Amino acid sequence: MKILIADAFDAKLPDRLAVFGEVWTDPARLGDAEVVLVRSKTKVTREYLEGAPNLKLVIRGGVGLDNVDKAACTERGIEVLNTPQASSVAVAELAMALMLAVPNHLIAAHNGMTEGKFLKNEIKRTELFRKTLGLIGVGLIGSEVAKRAAAFGMDVIAFDPFLTTHPIATLVSLDDLLSRSDYISLHTPLTDQTRGMIDAAAISRMKDGVILVNTGRGKVIVEPDLAAALAAGKVRAYATDVWYSDPPDPSCPLLSAPNVLMTPHIGASSKENLGRIGDVVVQILSARAG
Ligand code: NAD
Repeated sequence: MKILIADAFDAKLPDRLAVFGEVWTDPARLGDAEVVLVRSKTKVTREYLEGAPNLKLVIRGGVGLDNVDKAACTERGIEVLNTPQASSVAVAELAMALMLAVPNHLIAAHNGMTEGKFLKNEIKRTELFRKTLGLIGVGLIGSEVAKRAAAFGMDVIAFDPFLTTHPIATLVSLDDLLSRSDYISLHTPLTDQTRGMIDAAAISRMKDGVILVNTGRGKVIVEPDLAAALAAGKVRAYATDVWYSDPPDPSCPLLSAPNVLMTPHIGASSKENLGRIGDVVVQILSARAG
């Protein structure tokens, strides 16, 4: 097997894959590759495939396949696989970190200390305990968030049109979720139904002062609508790991909106998760080699 590791994976992966054949990371040698491993950076477009005449398998280390043109791969007989189970805990922990950082004012408190300001009287914390968390999408990641939020004493409700029961979250309609939640955390894939679902109309149905957390996909949000709601105080804070593009365009209105807590799409980037993704890649290639 000739394997190109096109994006950043676990540092040990090249050595682990060497048993399957030749492994390299130089994208200039795409033309020789039979297997390409990508995460988010490499876009497997029709144009990319033009340069990969020997390609038989694309493995995306991660959940979504937004950066792989599956139709173009299928037309060329190229199989596309991902590692959907591996990342759930990593993303859920980031969602919890974002959810905790906002009501605890961690950024303001830390910045105050570095600026020599001891904001003990100014910073007013609130708790997650007994607040309602609404999960939009409660699959692998949403379920890990549900577990952790329940342990914090949150009342966990969820909207997921493809589920009829859930072991932790109480399933409700989208309207119910929007009007009842103190925190809303987004965990859907980007689809025709979810693209732009958090627009001005949806925001107007939310509680005043709601806190939104997004570790799903940036395009589920209509950015100008959310920026306006943050400026008006309707939405108290938006904590996000995901953007319209990586990195966001400098014109993204959320970059300058008030009360936005931002991370650079690091939900899946825990050391442990990269190890787990590596394990799945090894399993996939072992099955083919055997
Ligand atoms: P999953 O498929 O296990 O769960 C997604 C859930 O969303 C499913 O239960 C599905 O029924 C539900 N859903 C689909 N359409 C919906 C709709 N219109 N309204 C409400 N729910 C809907 O996927 P997952 O592993 O939980 O991942 C969820 C998403 O998280 C991924 O698709 C990806 O966009 C995102 N993600 C982000 C990062 C990151 O780095 N921040 C990493 C991995 C995944």
